[in-house]
This record gives sequence, C-alpha cells and structure tokens, in this order.
Amino acid sequence: MIKENLKRIKEALPEEVTLVAVSKTKPISDLQEAYEAGQRIFGENKIQEMVEKYDALPKDIQWHMIGHLQRNKVKYMAHFVDLIHGVDSIKTLQEINKQAAKHQRVIRVLLQAKIAKEDSKFGLSFDEIQEILASDLQNSLSNIRVVGLMGMATFTDDQTQIGEEFTNLNNLFTTLKEQQHPLEILSMGMSGDYELAIEKGSNMVRIGSSIFGVRNYNA
Ligand SMILES: *Cc1c(COP(=O)(O)O)cnc(C)c1O
Repeated sequence: MIKENLKRIKEALPEEVTLVAVSKTKPISDLQEAYEAGQRIFGENKIQEMVEKYDALPKDIQWHMIGHLQRNKVKYMAHFVDLIHGVDSIKTLQEINKQAAKHQRVIRVLLQAKIAKEDSKFGLSFDEIQEILASDLQNSLSNIRVVGLMGMATFTDDQTQIGEEFTNLNNLFTTLKEQQHPLEILSMGMSGDYELAIEKGSNMVRIGSSIFGVRNYNA
C-alpha cells in the first residue's frame, strides 16, 4: 500500500515540488517500506521519535522536523536534522544556532508563518518575519540558514479560505525574495490540501496519511 500511495502521489507532483513523507507515529517498518520505494525525505513532529528512527534507519535519509519545537530538545537532533520547518521565535533560532555550532554544522530552517484564522496554530506574524529577516541574522547566527517559509492553513472545508491563506503566504514569500532575501522553500500543503497549496505556489508538501494511512494516536 505505502509503495503504491507514494508512486501515485509522486507521479502527480510537479517536478519542482519536494515531497516530505510525514511518518510521525508510524513504525520503522513503514518507513523502511517507503525508503525501499525510493523516498529519502521524512518528516517527524517529535524530536525523541525522530532520533529513534534516525538511529534505526539508513543514514542517507534527510530528516525534517515539522512539529512545534521544544527548545530544550533541539540538542538531541542537532547532529543530523536536515531541515527544521516550524521555527517561530528568535529564541528558538538562537538555540538551534548554538546546538548547530557544537557540531560545526549549518542547520537550515524555515520560519513558520501564522496564516490560519484559528488561535491554536503556532507561527509568526508577517511583520515579525520581516523583522527577523531584516535583522542581519546571517552574521550573528552563522550556524543557521533561513531558507524559506512554512505555513498551515485553517482546518476547514472552505477551499476558498484555505486558498486565500496559501496565497497570502506565497505573496509574502515572493515579496521577500524581491527584497533579495535568499529564500528557496515554501512549505505548505498536507494530505487534504496539497493540490491547492501547489496551485498557490508551494514547492514543498508534507504528506502523511495519504501515504501511510490514517494515524492511530491510541495505539
Ligand atoms: C502531521 C502533519 C502533516 C501531515 O498531515 P497529513 O494530513 O497526515 O498529511 C503535515 N504537516 C504538519 C506540520 C504535521 O504536523
């Protein structure tokens, strides 16, 4: 099933769109199956779980942290994490920088923008993102590199609203690039809305249940 799902989704994705296979809560055997089907980028939302999977699986996998970060756990993944999607404070940027420096690495991060109308979603306002990028980070925090933006739309059936939220983020992304910020990645879109996200400019989608099946949090 996993192989077929991956194949179907990959064939439908435009070439410039990167697929992050979101494997949170899923057993190692599921990730192994996706790996054997050629998948090399996996997304997890808990640092502990990602570390366990990193230890157990082939080392050419690129691990993306997509969940909200607990700063005191950044150190456990600093030696291997490839991209951190959900950064939403300067303090977290500083902690990632500090831990990356210990391993002489430069860790790539995305700033998470708040685009949903819900209170529960994490993220920075567009103004805060502008400020962070204007603040000469690349000199003061030389062990991180902000390479793009990430956003999650409101959990709703209203496609018009979701489309507008994605468009807002894409507009910010475009504006920042026009201001010469070297951003490359716009991470938006999950199983339920990735086609719409791509239509609105996404070039990285985070897909879990459409690949691995629904998650059972009580298992
Ligand atoms: C779980 C998760 C996904 C994947 O969700 P699906 O609906 O299963 O595709 C994508 N992004 C984030 C941030 C997630 O936590």
